[in-house]
Amino acid sequence: MLKNLKHIFSPLLWFYALVVYVFAMSVWWINLHLRNNRDLYRLNVELLEMEGEKYGKTPQTIRSTPQYAHIEQHFASQRTMILSEGAVFLLILSLGVYRIHGAFKKELSLNHQQRNFLLSITHELKSPLAALKLVVQTLLNRQLDPEKQKKLLHNALNDTDRLHELVENLLLAAKLESQSASFSLQPLCISDLLQALFDEFSEKYENLRHFESRIETDVWLHADPLALQSLCINLLDNALKYSRQGDTISCVLFTKGNELHWEVADSGIGIAAADKKKVFEKFYRVGNEDTRSTKGTGLGLFIVHELVHMMRGSISIKDNKPRGTVFLLVFPVSGNTSAAYNIIV
Ligand code: ATP
Ligand code: MG
Repeated sequence: MLKNLKHIFSPLLWFYALVVYVFAMSVWWINLHLRNNRDLYRLNVELLEMEGEKYGKTPQTIRSTPQYAHIEQHFASQRTMILSEGAVFLLILSLGVYRIHGAFKKELSLNHQQRNFLLSITHELKSPLAALKLVVQTLLNRQLDPEKQKKLLHNALNDTDRLHELVENLLLAAKLESQSASFSLQPLCISDLLQALFDEFSEKYENLRHFESRIETDVWLHADPLALQSLCINLLDNALKYSRQGDTISCVLFTKGNELHWEVADSGIGIAAADKKKVFEKFYRVGNEDTRSTKGTGLGLFIVHELVHMMRGSISIKDNKPRGTVFLLVFPVSGNTSAAYNIIV
């Protein structure tokens, strides 16, 4: 019942109702003007005929007079004016409605995504904080053996890492959006950087997933190390989050002609074709916040997309075989990879 009421008061419904009303009114007014014009024409013709009869003129002779031609011409020009002005009005109205409708939809979807973002960020902040508080309380109130203490502290460190990554992502997204992000360019051996990050990541989650890497050595870029690190962590984090126990996560880097190809693949749940473009939008997460089991803010791929484009690269999503997702990043390189610093941010 409440849901129906909410539907009735939805702004989009009122907008559609107004549009239908304005269109119907416009058509009605155009029709009314055409009828009035026709009535006026008939009245003028009748008056002219009555006037002519007084002087004994026949209807045929009246129709050949200049007065009659003037009435006909006035009628035709008025009709053309009403029809063309009506058509222009309806055209402008349709274009306006189309644009307003698009803006409305965008606004509603942004509202929805922001609501989802608030829900998810609250959870993302609350759970590691609660876990940290519990660890501190346990260490304060209980005498634990060193082994248990170490395990608790290790968990606490993981939680602080999670918080740190979340805050970093939020800051980076805000900077990218306000275009105030500054990147320090320096020659980077992307092979070493990726290998180190991948090894650290695979070590951390070696019990949960199967990890494979094929990283060509000595590939150099002129890029920002933090931006590249953020790219890599976000893609690996997604591969982990959206796959299951025992699935494979792989990282491949190779040069092909004048291009550098970097693939991060998983054999997880995959991304439906309709969502492949949308996942790069800010706050976009597949599915519904109430039913979704994985947590996140929907900022990771937005950041990845922005960073890749700043580095003049491109990113695309392919289906992995037999299942899962492949993120393919391509950057233009030129000449000898070990000698040149190819990417200009
Ligand atoms: P955050 O990265 O901010 O913590 P998130 O992971 O939900 O949150 P994104 O990284 O931007 O946000 O990803 C957007 C959405 O794309 C995810 O919610 C998920 O539905 C989908 N997605 C991303 N990577 C994968 C993947 N490897 N496999 C399947 N789905 C994915
Ligand atoms: Mg993510």
